Parts: sequence; C-alpha cells; structure tokens
Amino acid sequence: MKQKQTRTILKKIEEIKEKHKKTEIKDLQLEKAERIAKHLDSFSDSCSECRNDLEELKAETVHLAVLHQLDSKTILAYREFVQQLSNHLKEKHNMTPEGTGTSIGIAIGIAAGFALGLSVFHNIAVGLAIGLAIGLSIGAAKDNKDKKAGKVI
Ligand SMILES: [Zn+2]
Repeated sequence: MKQKQTRTILKKIEEIKEKHKKTEIKDLQLEKAERIAKHLDSFSDSCSECRNDLEELKAETVHLAVLHQLDSKTILAYREFVQQLSNHLKEKHNMTPEGTGTSIGIAIGIAAGFALGLSVFHNIAVGLAIGLAIGLSIGAAKDNKDKKAGKVI
C-alpha cells in the first residue's frame, strides 16, 4: 500500500462492516470495494485517473461510514460508484471482474454441449451435461489463473 487514502478506505470499510447488517454489507459489495482500493493504489503512481478514483472512493466511503442507517438509494448509489471504478480497471488496466471465467465457461459449455449432443451423442441432455462440466472447469481454471496473477477486480 502506497497511499494513505487506501489505509483510510480499508479502515472505514471495517467500520461500516461492524455497524450494519450482513445483508446490507453484501448489497454494498464492500469486499469488491476493498479489492478495488488495493488495485487503484497499485496503479496510482502511473495513472492519474486511478489517483482521482482513489480520492473519490475515500470520500464516498468516509461519507458512508458516518451514516447510522442505510437506505436502498444510498446502497445503490455506492454500488454504481464502485462499478464505475471497476469499469476503469477493466478497460484501462486489463483486469477482469470476479467470476468472469465461470460465466464464459458456462456460455461456451452450453454452446459446445448442445452441438456435441446433437452431432456426437444424439442426446442433447448428455451433451449439455458434458459441455457444462468441461466449460465450468475451464472457467474455474481461468478464474484461478487471474486470481494468482492479481488481476481479479
Ligand atoms: Zn487507472
């Protein structure tokens, strides 16, 4: 961690987690916000947008931490804000949102399984089951690889 904003963000996120219900914390996607703060921190030397985003994330998180009650509008606004930061990391820094491999794997698995089911097995259900199993393992492997490379948002 290079920036002191990052430490503030992580500290405030802990405060928010202690103060509010589990369901609200889940809706806020605080775990994602934490990961994003760390990514922005690591790019902040070379990317001025990441520096600005980090500053804004700090302001938003500090603001959130002083609230005693969360309403759905506040939760939604924070989520949308975090999503914007995630988009920047994805577009400018070639990072991948969590679970991307799995969703790609499922899509490929269904398409391939359907084709295999029609042509090779003459049974769509069998084809789909095999296709999905293969697709899911490919997806999980990609997710793991991205995670190890520190590329998951
Ligand atoms: Zn950046």
